[in-house]
Amino acid sequence: MSVQNVLNLIKEKNIEWVDFRFVGLSGKAQHISLPSTEVDEETFVNGVAFDGSSIPGFRGIEQSDMVMMPDTETAYVDPFTAHPTLVIMSNIHTPEGDRYDRDPRSIAQKAEEYLQTTGVGTTAYFAPESEFFIFDDVRFENGMNKSYFEVDSEEAGWNTGRKEEGGNLAYKVPVKGGYVPVAPIDSQQDIRSEMCNKLADAGLRIERHHHEVATAGQAEINFRFDTLTKTADNLLKYKYIVANTAREYGKVATFMPKPLFGDNGSGMHVHMSIFNEGNPLFYEKGSYANLSEMAINYIGGILYHAPALIAITNPSTNSFKRLVPGYEAPVNLVFSKGNRSAAVRIPIAAVTPKGCRIEFRTPDSTANPYLAFAAMLMAGLDGIKKKIDPRALGYGPFDTNIYEMSDAEKAEIRSVPGTLDEALDALAADSDFLLEGGVFTQDFIDNYIDLKRGEAKQVAIRIHPHEYNLYFDC
Ligand code: GLU
Ligand code: MG
Ligand code: MG
Repeated sequence: MSVQNVLNLIKEKNIEWVDFRFVGLSGKAQHISLPSTEVDEETFVNGVAFDGSSIPGFRGIEQSDMVMMPDTETAYVDPFTAHPTLVIMSNIHTPEGDRYDRDPRSIAQKAEEYLQTTGVGTTAYFAPESEFFIFDDVRFENGMNKSYFEVDSEEAGWNTGRKEEGGNLAYKVPVKGGYVPVAPIDSQQDIRSEMCNKLADAGLRIERHHHEVATAGQAEINFRFDTLTKTADNLLKYKYIVANTAREYGKVATFMPKPLFGDNGSGMHVHMSIFNEGNPLFYEKGSYANLSEMAINYIGGILYHAPALIAITNPSTNSFKRLVPGYEAPVNLVFSKGNRSAAVRIPIAAVTPKGCRIEFRTPDSTANPYLAFAAMLMAGLDGIKKKIDPRALGYGPFDTNIYEMSDAEKAEIRSVPGTLDEALDALAADSDFLLEGGVFTQDFIDNYIDLKRGEAKQVAIRIHPHEYNLYFDC
């Protein structure tokens, strides 16, 4: 959409407010609204000023002035505001007019530009499956908070805010029993459909929605793949519309990777493929899972760099409570067709040459999608450039259930890092692949690691309720 189209849209839809948004390192959307009467051609040339020093990980107060440069392609009408409001996503520039090298959206764009210089292909496509829970808004009233600390998994499943004390347990979703039952077990058909309708109005092409495996309201909505930065923009839109629709229904939606102990967590599996001028490069008929050597090397890069990559794709202390055996979240850094216990899965059901892709299952929605998609692409491209062969490195393919292998067999397999600190150590030791083409800078990586170490420390120094179970009566 051109600037003129946006200005026309403002008139046509009687838009009163234009809401300029950007993301900081956390990946959460931030916004400042201008009266539409103050928005003209100049706004799109000069940008919109904001205070960068109040955004964690950005500049200090001595250099706080930053500028949002709106990307008119991203404009959509906010479905939640009482006053007609147009949302526009922005890049962040310095007051001197340069791209700010800690701006996640600029990093995503630089990764796409870098791909084009490698000669590998012209376009990388991404499709995230961002799972979430819809809870009754009773977190601190009737017991869901207990489940954070519950040690008995069966008990934990009933402590999700839906327990009726001494009452009727019919139509409830059992622990790990939530995969696609019809109503009345699935009580959230309408809220998911409403989310999808709003997402479609805001420009996303919805492919499907369903109740996910975990108890009581775990959901997934899938929207169509797109290029890297556009998919990250779409994911932000998705999270905004999901959370605000839940709020309209008196519920809360959370993308937290592991809100309930003893049941499945929420992942953000990411499907990826590379095309050259419209031709798919990951497909080769008749080979393992119909994958080309380029796709195999891309997988090699993802798995080789996975410990470092995970510091960006799973960047919270809670991420590592999901990455444990037994809950469909991957713990093994291997690849496989079909197998959900592998970090990289190659979907084989109903796949066409153009649909041939790889699925990295480790990420979760605490990831900043701009950084996570960029880092995944950089890892995969490094694999292609260095011809990293995951078969030669013992990364698979494994088409058996890895959870059920003998201990000796499992000992041969690399696992995901156990904590955020371990992943940050891996990133500190292995970040050169991210620096290629100036996509990420060393300053960015150092600053990111500092910020995330600070989060890990905040959690580590607090007393965990389960410590009372273990140590109170000592
Ligand atoms: N919820 C699972 C996870 O944490 C994934 C379930 C699925 O395969 O969709 O990754
Ligand atoms: Mg799923
Ligand atoms: Mg999946």
